[in-house]
Amino acid sequence: MRTPLVAGNWKMHGTLASGRALVGALSTGLADRDAAAEVLICPAFPHLAPIAEALDGGPLALGAQDLSDQPGEGAFTGDVGGAMLADIGCAYVLVGHSERRDIHGESDELVADKFARAQEAGLIPVLCVGETLEERQAGTTETVIERQLAAVLESLGVAVLEHAVVAYEPVWAIGTGQTATPDQAQAVHSFIRGKIAAQDATIAGGLRILYGGSVKAANARELFAMTDIDGGLVGGASLKAQEFLQIIEAAS
Ligand code: PEP
Repeated sequence: MRTPLVAGNWKMHGTLASGRALVGALSTGLADRDAAAEVLICPAFPHLAPIAEALDGGPLALGAQDLSDQPGEGAFTGDVGGAMLADIGCAYVLVGHSERRDIHGESDELVADKFARAQEAGLIPVLCVGETLEERQAGTTETVIERQLAAVLESLGVAVLEHAVVAYEPVWAIGTGQTATPDQAQAVHSFIRGKIAAQDATIAGGLRILYGGSVKAANARELFAMTDIDGGLVGGASLKAQEFLQIIEAAS
């Protein structure tokens, strides 16, 4: 039995005041509901520590959107280490979000390094994978996903997925309003689980695979009803308390 996870990626949005207000509205909303899903929020770096204080043992888990690929601490100007994130109360961290891969040129190998740094710091990495529109149209979706997964599996081994989450996020669906259909998403989720099952069926069976890409209150329920979809990674809709609460309810 996999506990559903709904993660909000706040990206580079908002102020500390708006983040605190969102936490307040979500905490109140969750107290009124019987949400079986685990809920994670991922604010921007400068908001993490004060938001961690605002969470104060409540129902929301905290995660970062990225971390340094460098181990320990040292002369890495501008980087934020995994241990620093764990120290201020993060439990999770996104690695390999398509905006990092695309805008910052993060390679599969760099993403695998960040995955390793996250686990060394005791954080749970949320490994984001997904194809572009061109790749889907060229019929290479599975090849791309397999390559992105292989970078982690070949360098670190399948056992690392025991303490990790995978998020399938088709790049063409992120922030576009163009959601994958439940069948399209399920097909890729099932492919991911099958690839991992080929190496370790128990780990594959316990692995949470989230869908991300224009998840809204209006489409969440049908997506989360699919066998291999264990929740969502939500961008825009996670910034609206009532809509995010409805998405959480759909996963519960
Ligand atoms: C995301 O930020 O990972 C994402 C899926 O964004 P959106 O829900 O806005 O498409």
